[in-house]
Amino acid sequence: MNVDLHCHSNVSDGVLPPAKVAKVAREAGVDVWALTDHDEVGGIAAARAAAAEQGMRFVTGVEISITWAGETVHIVGLQIDENNPALVQGLEATRSGRDNRGREIAVQLAKAGIPDAYEGALKYVSNPNLMSRTHFARYIVEIGACRNTSEVFKKYLCEGKPGYVEHRWATLEQSVQWIRGAGGIAVIAHPGRYKFSDTAEGVLFDEFKQMGGTAIEVVTGSHTPDQYPEYARLANAYGFLASRGTDFHAPGEARVDFKLLPPLPNNVTPVWHDWF
Ligand code: AMP
Ligand code: MN
Ligand code: MN
Ligand code: MN
Repeated sequence: MNVDLHCHSNVSDGVLPPAKVAKVAREAGVDVWALTDHDEVGGIAAARAAAAEQGMRFVTGVEISITWAGETVHIVGLQIDENNPALVQGLEATRSGRDNRGREIAVQLAKAGIPDAYEGALKYVSNPNLMSRTHFARYIVEIGACRNTSEVFKKYLCEGKPGYVEHRWATLEQSVQWIRGAGGIAVIAHPGRYKFSDTAEGVLFDEFKQMGGTAIEVVTGSHTPDQYPEYARLANAYGFLASRGTDFHAPGEARVDFKLLPPLPNNVTPVWHDWF
């Protein structure tokens, strides 16, 4: 069974509308699918309807931006009630700083030789409440300053680079509470992408577990292949279930697409083990 529990639509920083993502996922063989837009559940209704139409099992999801130990971390919520008031309000608060951050990113980019980036990025934004660094990255590729979005992040948008603007998101505790309060399961997204020491990562895992976190992503398009066995081992060591998802944003934009993502290693317990 092909289970993909991490995808983006143009309701956050993906390029396809939710129904189109469902179609692309289904055509690539996905059987169980979650839409996990950043800090947003506005695409869920359309995604659910499209998944049903495609004969694909749908899982309600979201990817919440948090700040932990001064770094941005992403927490995926699965099987949430997307109408839960505390969750809805929490996400709204999380989104609210994005536009101002975008304006500041543009100011910084202008100093680094990329003018008019706010307007440029805005052309790629389809949800006005969700301006993302990804939209800036697509604009910077468009003007030819970099060859691809990955290069833009390395040169301009990652921490320590000229277009990076400090931002304080929700806390780990808030995100887990919102997700669990909405009946959902909390999952640490792409743990291998954060720049934590092994010790700090262990503290994150312990705190997350104590707060009621359930799983970590093991096989994700945001991990390198050598990180799959590494995070399988850590999932087992910490007693986490394992999740899997492409982190799809746009056709051809990332290293792996739906068809290229391997299954979970068989020594882990999938987060979906008792779902059906
Ligand atoms: P934001 O939520 O606006 O800070 O943007 C975060 C998004 O930027 C992530 O969800 C990814 O889609 C994208 N992103 C972050 N780091 C990278 C990277 N190194 N290469 C490509 N995309 C990235
Ligand atoms: Mn993204
Ligand atoms: Mn993420
Ligand atoms: Mn993601």
